[in-house]
Amino acid sequence: MISAKEDVHKMSKFSVLNVVKKGQLFENKTLLKATFEICAMKHNFHYEVIKTDRQLWYVRCEDNECNWCVRAECLQDSEYFIIKKYVGEHTCAPSNKTKPGRTASATASAKTIAWDAREYAVNAVRGIPERSYGKIPKYLHMLREANPGTHSSYEIDSKGRFRYLFIAFGQSLRGFNRVIRRVIVVDGTFLKNKYKGVLLVATAVDGNSNLYPLPIGVVDSENENSCEWFMRQLNIVIADDHHLAFILDRHGTIAKALETVYPTAKHGICIHHLLNNVVTYYHGKGLVGLVAKASKVYRIAEFEKIFANVCNISPAIGKYLRDAEVQKWARCQFSGYRYDIRTTNPAESINSALRSPREYPIIPLLDSIREMLTRWFYNRKKKI
Ligand SMILES: [Zn+2]
Repeated sequence: MISAKEDVHKMSKFSVLNVVKKGQLFENKTLLKATFEICAMKHNFHYEVIKTDRQLWYVRCEDNECNWCVRAECLQDSEYFIIKKYVGEHTCAPSNKTKPGRTASATASAKTIAWDAREYAVNAVRGIPERSYGKIPKYLHMLREANPGTHSSYEIDSKGRFRYLFIAFGQSLRGFNRVIRRVIVVDGTFLKNKYKGVLLVATAVDGNSNLYPLPIGVVDSENENSCEWFMRQLNIVIADDHHLAFILDRHGTIAKALETVYPTAKHGICIHHLLNNVVTYYHGKGLVGLVAKASKVYRIAEFEKIFANVCNISPAIGKYLRDAEVQKWARCQFSGYRYDIRTTNPAESINSALRSPREYPIIPLLDSIREMLTRWFYNRKKKI
């Protein structure tokens, strides 16, 4: 199994152009087409369909001079398509593709949809209606075509500006519903482009302590409405249930949204964040260790002994911890199945795996996440 750390390392070397190979099989033509639609959107080019029928799918870069092409043929007596020829490198002039800072000429060009252009990030996260906008629904549509069982949702405001986006991959949901321990960690992180988007990530942990990614959302900012919207979308694919547990930070709008949308599921708070706060408020020695110990013990009697000690040393911290609701942070008091997932680390690891994609505009960001998941699932399957 790959650890999250190793994977972060590999991440940087990964490129989508290597994903498709000659000889690769696609279950059907829809899947094949969706894969290349997504590829074209992400890499900012267009292709022309030269021939398409039941036996053949042949496309070329829109630029006549360019070598990029794909030829796929249907396998006899099946729905499967196999790639017979694939030239993945473009020889068309890069100037045809929009680069940041080339806005003026870009608008004139036919290939204006600049996925890597800074202005696109403004459009996507903050929102100036532009024609590139129309690409998000199309991207989501392709994603659903290529990944059966995928749920996605996308909202714009009355002026057509980006508000919220949600994606839950079918593969990941099926796995979660079958075999994964029902503990979900939700955490938000700022997108690093200078526009105020927030990436919300839900994560589980599989039986081998590997991260198991669940749905993601992108919202214009982390507030009550956006968090509740995210939770409601999550609720469509993962139902509220008393066997389900969530681990969150102590405070924040996510916790509030959770109370509203998942009243039955058990809510835990991240012990790591709690201890950090104890350190911030109380500078005396030994207390943090005691709180950590109290959070870990399995027996209630033992917990009460340690906690009484904590309250003795600092009544203020005792009150703080009681206000944080003991059953949310102490293992022996937790009413649901929490296993040993005590922190929001899983979500943080996903965030760090996405360190560089977080600087991307929205479609490349989403697509990097999709690629990362594909790679994780593929690598893990190989090792089974
Ligand atoms: Zn080309």
